[in-house]
Amino acid sequence: MSDAYGQLLDATIQHLEGLKSRGVRNVAVSPQTLRELTLPTKINSTPPSVPKTETTTSMPAKKIASPGESPVAVAPVRLPITSSSPDKAAAFAELQKRALSCVKCLHLASSRKNVVFGVGSIDAQLMFVGEAPGADEDEQGEPFVGRAGQLLTKIIQATGLSRADVYIANILKCRPDTPGQSAGNRKPTPDEMATCIPYLHEQIDLIRPKVIVALGATAVDGLLGKTIGITKLRGNWQTYRGTPLMPTYHPAYLLRNQAMSEKRKVWEDMLAVMEKLGMPASEKQRNFFLKA
Ligand code: URA
Repeated sequence: MSDAYGQLLDATIQHLEGLKSRGVRNVAVSPQTLRELTLPTKINSTPPSVPKTETTTSMPAKKIASPGESPVAVAPVRLPITSSSPDKAAAFAELQKRALSCVKCLHLASSRKNVVFGVGSIDAQLMFVGEAPGADEDEQGEPFVGRAGQLLTKIIQATGLSRADVYIANILKCRPDTPGQSAGNRKPTPDEMATCIPYLHEQIDLIRPKVIVALGATAVDGLLGKTIGITKLRGNWQTYRGTPLMPTYHPAYLLRNQAMSEKRKVWEDMLAVMEKLGMPASEKQRNFFLKA
């Protein structure tokens, strides 16, 4: 194996292990890289390109889908990151360990496949909070990986960020059980929310994001104790223990209601979030969902 190839491999492994230690469970690998990885390695020849993950810093603008249907090119952006202290990483790992073995809600502990703790960077400036894991999330142990999650990923990417740049968690870490039903979801009960919310408070206290986006009414209720309708609240800055919080519609709502006007509302909320974080929005980004 050539020196250069060995160094690339080491750097790739180190990078992936860093992501893993921060809770990232999936990385995007381009079709070209996948093809290259299936080819036999040529010893002492030009090394194959390093698999590009979503957190690579110097990626060219990539084609992605906007929060709607049409693919748009959005240049990836980086928010300044203050690297975690070892203490912070250790405290986060300890919190995760506690949550993963939690049995406070016996009915949920016995029905769950996985505790869905959270995913992303523990140094994120932007944090998304949803309701509770669904079947896909329970299966994979990662929040927002089902259909609504894929839409959330597109919304994040439309800002120029990736899932690995932000942190994503839920009010409830276990999937609400649905006894006697083979499919479907239910809202968390007030008791379940009250029992689980301390884990989220601790996550937020450790991450200390600059902005929180609350996705849907349950997230707003869990974080702020406000049960005012999300239709009234969305788009209006709130404060969670001193941190600016933007309530917006849950992506599952956008899947149910495909109207351009609703997508635009969520996008306006995201533009406000970008502004709060000092992320410049391009003309193209400003114009998403203004025309059919
Ligand atoms: N809906 C949520 O609120 N959270 C998830 O993780 C998935 C779907």
